[in-house]
Amino acid sequence: MAVQAGAIGSVGRHNIEEDQMTTKKINPVETATKQVELAGKYLDVDDGILEKIKYTQRDIIVHFPVKMDDGKVRIFTGYRIQHNDTRGPFKGGLRYHPDVDLDEVRALAMWMTWKSAVVNIPFGGAKGGVNCNPKELSSGELERITRRFTWEISSFIGPERDIPAPDVYTNPQVMAWIMDTYSIRKGYAVPGVVTGKPIELGGSLGRYEATARGVFVTAVEAMKHLNLPVQGARVAIQGAGNVGGVAARFFERAGARVIAISDSRGGLYNPKSLKIDKALECKDRYSCFLEQEVGEAETITNEELLEMDCDMLVPCALESQITGENAPKVKCRLLVEGANGPTTPEADDILSDRGIFTVPDILANAGGVTVSYFEWVQNLQELFWNEEEVSARLTTIMTRSFSEVLRISQERKVNMRIAALILGIGRVVEAMKLRGLFP
Ligand code: NAD
Repeated sequence: MAVQAGAIGSVGRHNIEEDQMTTKKINPVETATKQVELAGKYLDVDDGILEKIKYTQRDIIVHFPVKMDDGKVRIFTGYRIQHNDTRGPFKGGLRYHPDVDLDEVRALAMWMTWKSAVVNIPFGGAKGGVNCNPKELSSGELERITRRFTWEISSFIGPERDIPAPDVYTNPQVMAWIMDTYSIRKGYAVPGVVTGKPIELGGSLGRYEATARGVFVTAVEAMKHLNLPVQGARVAIQGAGNVGGVAARFFERAGARVIAISDSRGGLYNPKSLKIDKALECKDRYSCFLEQEVGEAETITNEELLEMDCDMLVPCALESQITGENAPKVKCRLLVEGANGPTTPEADDILSDRGIFTVPDILANAGGVTVSYFEWVQNLQELFWNEEEVSARLTTIMTRSFSEVLRISQERKVNMRIAALILGIGRVVEAMKLRGLFP
């Protein structure tokens, strides 16, 4: 059953398909702030600190010009939001998406702070993004956007300061452009300025699979806790990118049945089991899932996937997918959040009342930041680890973090999300108390 260390394979090109769905308009900052208030009730923390962590430390917003392929100049807006660096440098992904806005990035930055603390790695939390539609941009335009954006924020990032990584619609190539631009500015190579780089530039073995591996490891731990066998478990996965696509391969390899998978245009369903290699190959070739190419599968919408009868639902796309509206119809026994913020607080209460066990995002998808930390350590030491070492260390951290969160959940009689927030926010708050208030 254990997944062997070793490359699980690429999920191909970066999802350049038509995006016909948009996220439902629920403000993620409200979700993130409510979560702080909720966890604060269980923590020995004064109101000043609690208020402080509801705010980001620094919001960097840049408007910058880029020459497009047709010779015209377009202005783009980019964000780098630094939430908290009490426990170490700011850390978090960069997202390229037409829905990127200040509130989305602020919430994502806050979740990064708690996530780094849940897995107890010495990072704070940040997030960034550029409001753009990568599906309509050429590779040259993407490169020029990335380089100019990096230049604009370069005084605020760096290996000791703030370290970006890939997120939705960004990939190792984008990280390579950032590393190059930052290094040119410095005058020497600085691989530690980003993680999720190509291996050839100092990326870590196992980083590409890391988030999905963490999702898989915590899902297996949750299944053990619930006495659900992995073998034959019916899994539905929303999103087929770096997290969802790779996780599908891990689950299939472990003997689970991936019965549904989707991207932004919809997905495929087979009540027995989909052939994941075939489905991902199809997505790679045609940038979408095609029933006729994959065979023995019918098309489904993202809404249908979320409400599907299955043992485990694994949202791996965008935030606010499970809401007060569809939560009563969710039929899984176990929800494992590969995506950041896929469940609204209202939906959370409904799922919790219905006895659906949730592995929350700040635990389930923390494998990415954990191996980013390994990559950063390797860059600073200029010493590289093999893939077995990376994946063994990752598995140890994810398993330990799962059991710490489960213990808090049992001792405090709270659900797993509140337990993870108590652990993550609690560690940040303790560190803030120790550092004290300046001046
Ligand atoms: P990705 O760009 O590789 O893949 C995103 C996937 O989501 C694609 O298959 C895309 O088609 C699909 N998608 C986009 N919009 C959708 C919609 N409206 N409905 C359904 N599907 C949609 O991105 P990723 O890196 O896999 O990130 C996915 C989620 O995981 C995000 O929430 C991200 O913040 C989170 N996450 C990523 C990492 C990481 O290391 N990449 C780490 C932690 C958390």
